Amino acid sequence: MSGFISWGKYSNHKLTPLEFYWENELIEITKQNTPMNVSGLRRSYGDVCYTTMGTNLCTKRFSRFIQFDIKTGVLECGSGVTLSDINRVSVPCGWFIPVSPGTKHVSLGGMIANDVHGKNHHKAGSFGNNISELTLYRSVDGKILCSPTVNRELFTNTIGGLGLTGVIVNATVQLKKIASNTLFVEDIPFQNLTQYEEITAESDTSFEYTVAWINAHSISNTTCHGILSRANYVDTRANHLSKATDVRLRVPVTAPNFFLNSFLMKLFNHSYYLAHKNKTEAIKTIDAFFYPLDKVDDWNKLYGKRGFFQYQCVVPMRSGIAVIKELLLWAKKQGQIPYLSVLKKFGATPAVGIMSFPMPGYTIALDFPNNGKRTLQLLNEFDRIILQANGRLYPAKDARMAPSTFQIMYPQFTSFKQYLDPQLTSDFWRRVSV
Ligand SMILES: Cc1cc2nc3c(=O)[nH]c(=O)nc-3n(C[C@H](O)[C@H](O)[C@H](O)COP(=O)(O)OP(=O)(O)OC[C@H]3O[C@@H](n4cnc5c(N)ncnc54)[C@H](O)[C@@H]3O)c2cc1C
Repeated sequence: MSGFISWGKYSNHKLTPLEFYWENELIEITKQNTPMNVSGLRRSYGDVCYTTMGTNLCTKRFSRFIQFDIKTGVLECGSGVTLSDINRVSVPCGWFIPVSPGTKHVSLGGMIANDVHGKNHHKAGSFGNNISELTLYRSVDGKILCSPTVNRELFTNTIGGLGLTGVIVNATVQLKKIASNTLFVEDIPFQNLTQYEEITAESDTSFEYTVAWINAHSISNTTCHGILSRANYVDTRANHLSKATDVRLRVPVTAPNFFLNSFLMKLFNHSYYLAHKNKTEAIKTIDAFFYPLDKVDDWNKLYGKRGFFQYQCVVPMRSGIAVIKELLLWAKKQGQIPYLSVLKKFGATPAVGIMSFPMPGYTIALDFPNNGKRTLQLLNEFDRIILQANGRLYPAKDARMAPSTFQIMYPQFTSFKQYLDPQLTSDFWRRVSV
């Protein structure tokens, strides 16, 4: 058994996960009556996926497929099944996960508990919109089936419920029919955020997936260089491309703290933009389009021993772009330009989850190396700006927001408390719920 921390690696804690294989083992563990957290692959950046006080359960070995109907695309499996495994089984049959995060190294349970979003929020909503039922194991009342019609409140509080309402045992997902395993991708450069808004608005109806990368070094009152990628499935079965080999690299050791620095990242961001200065079109595999970061295993080690923070917020549509610009200008003024910046638009589909992060608006994810107090001060200032704009932060990425910030951003937190499983907790929850 090995120690673990979450993806941001900002924490020194080394914890020993307790893996279970059978449901009975889970039930026995819960009888011990100690505080517990249950995690999947701990791809959350902050502290939602562990507790430093109590037992850390992990669903890694709880990964059985229960049934998959190739005709209807209905898939039922254990909560520890990974997206990587789901794709391996479903894509060759012409089905794909309806909503995919930017890595396939996540578990079904983790995707539900954070109600993850993808590049197609404007078309499909978030992951919870595609779950037809789930089974929950609660220390207080045992196994419970939940769906939009059965135990509805427990269902809607479990989706996006941060693993606090019970252990998700199994879930049923409606997969999405795909015409092929490849996508036609257009990369369109923009010079400022107004142009971004125009291109993304124009792409919303005709493209299934949209996402933008931003060169945060280029931000000024009038400029912001970036590239909007938009994609649809190629409309034939292009099986020849499915054989394209998936090149994978690994970062073998944690890099020295100075390895990634602002000079190198400035160079990278400028070169990347220049390489895409003209509109390009390409056919890409599912892996190449959805999971470019998965090509390098353990890329988080590049940030060194102090790790990094990803700050992800969503801001309502009307003020969204202006507020995002304000964040980027402020970061530049403070000499702390994010190493990576990704911008997406959330559509109008309401989330099923009461505590879900997505809401209509613009969402930006900004990666900052952990430079201690300086970084925390910058992010606290960001919180102030986001609060003022009626936006909110994504708990899956958070490691530091104050309880008052969380409780204003998630006022439904008060009603959510009645659905908590008293045995389940996380460092995140203990931090924000006081
Ligand atoms: C490179 C990268 C790209 C990403 N891109 C996106 C993105 O585009 N969109 C997005 O929304 N997120 C994204 N994420 C975040 C990631 O998708 C979520 O944090 C996801 O929840 C991680 O899944 P996991 O299996 O690792 O869960 P963990 O991180 O282990 O756990 C996440 C939460 O789920 C709970 N949980 C896990 N299993 C269970 C269970 N069986 N029962 C009850 N609760 C459970 C945990 O307690 C915790 O609260 C990205 C992360 C990375 C590293």
